[in-house]
Amino acid sequence: MHREKTTSRGGGGGGGGGGGGTSGSRTRVGKYELGRTLGEGTFAKVKFARNVETGEHVAIKILDKEKVLKHKMIGQIKREISTMKLIRHPNVVRMHEVMASKSKIYIVLDFVTGGELFDKIASKGRLKEDEARKYFQQLINAVDYCHSRGVYHRDLKPENLLMDANGVLKVSDFGLSALPQQVREDGLLHTTCGTPNYVAPEVINNKGYDGAKADLWSCGVILFVLMAGYLPFEESNLMALYKKIFKADFSCPPWFSSSAKKLITRILDPNPATRITIAEVIENEWFKKGYKPPKFEQADVSLVDVDSIFNESADSQNLVVEKREEGFIGPVAPVTMNAFELISTSQGLNLSSLFEKQMGLVKRQTRFTSKHSANEIISKIESAAMPLGFDVKKNNFKMKLQGDKDGRKGRLSVATEIFEVAPSLYMVELRKAGGDTLEFHKFYKNLSTGLKDIVWKTIDEEKEEEMTGKVG
Ligand code: ADP
Ligand code: MG
Repeated sequence: MHREKTTSRGGGGGGGGGGGGTSGSRTRVGKYELGRTLGEGTFAKVKFARNVETGEHVAIKILDKEKVLKHKMIGQIKREISTMKLIRHPNVVRMHEVMASKSKIYIVLDFVTGGELFDKIASKGRLKEDEARKYFQQLINAVDYCHSRGVYHRDLKPENLLMDANGVLKVSDFGLSALPQQVREDGLLHTTCGTPNYVAPEVINNKGYDGAKADLWSCGVILFVLMAGYLPFEESNLMALYKKIFKADFSCPPWFSSSAKKLITRILDPNPATRITIAEVIENEWFKKGYKPPKFEQADVSLVDVDSIFNESADSQNLVVEKREEGFIGPVAPVTMNAFELISTSQGLNLSSLFEKQMGLVKRQTRFTSKHSANEIISKIESAAMPLGFDVKKNNFKMKLQGDKDGRKGRLSVATEIFEVAPSLYMVELRKAGGDTLEFHKFYKNLSTGLKDIVWKTIDEEKEEEMTGKVG
């Protein structure tokens, strides 16, 4: 299905991932210097940052303050963020502190360097049962612990399963997905969004649900994908997908052991009342094999920061300002990226992987290299995007392409950035900044036709050249 990768993710210590560049201005928030964007989700942007006092690397999740504060569930959000600050669990991404400026909320998190767990499947295919179990145990540990503290995830999906440099699973976004939800009189959660493939039937039904049962369903889907290499429920048509989920209409591939099949079937029970509970999963024979209960500490942390952001009488003591450091009007050259950063951010500079819909898991970011000048690259992208009906906004070596039509998940928006990898070698990154991932793919397919001349190489081409004995 997929060729071998010739590059691997940077894992070993140190932490690559990209501070600012060697040129241009730097943005400071409190004691943190902001670096490049690590990813963009539906509600937030995640940026790399460095604590200038300690040199420590962190990830900062940036949310729109107005959207968060006007939300009806402000009490619950505050409670969950406070709880998450107290939690130190080996399988949960640690929250260091929260800050706010006039318009934004900044959540400072551990910078997790090993990439998303599913990148591993995307590059190596499905996992062996023992390895899948190892990750599933860590996932259940994290989920069970947070539930015991009254925090539900509600958005468990591949993008929220990160790995550290040692391959330890870290679940991200616990306590943050309360943001787009609603709690009604009955005390149950109501939601309309989420990643449909991983969402429990009662959540789709929007009849209100028990957060613990719904999270467990998502864990079941994740376990299935780890072992099968594809999704249990998949349909290109949304209604057809919902139908399958409501009936739990899936079948396990023949390589699943019978005890694994049994467990998955008990988790993917469409009726939350008869679905197995997490406590029962932990007692399950298949689950218990090689299980090591987690060790963790209770930290002594202050909640002053959370209080000051969420309290009505927001005193401005904890208010930070996002400021650009003086000295530059704008970057005169693209940000340079060193080899370490390049390896740690790159899944192999592979253009073709974008065209593949790997087991229904679609990448929402892609990169290619080019030997053309940064200005040529920019004008090429611009002239390729405009006929597709995209509005182009330029800001030095970054561009934002905005679609003109509303799609399945709103308007498609694509962020691009150019990095200098070596003298006259550039890496171009295209990242979905809004809208539907599948639509992003369609757009990129069209765009790449117009970009053919400027793309230098992909890993596949290199391999072909090796085979035919040509020199690049
Ligand atoms: P979502 O979870 O909806 O995909 P997020 O805003 O939570 O969106 O994160 C966007 C992307 O940023 C993630 O998919 C992940 O690749 C990256 N990311 C998030 N948190 C971290 C972190 N703590 N360390 C490193 N990368 C992160
Ligand atoms: Mg996330």
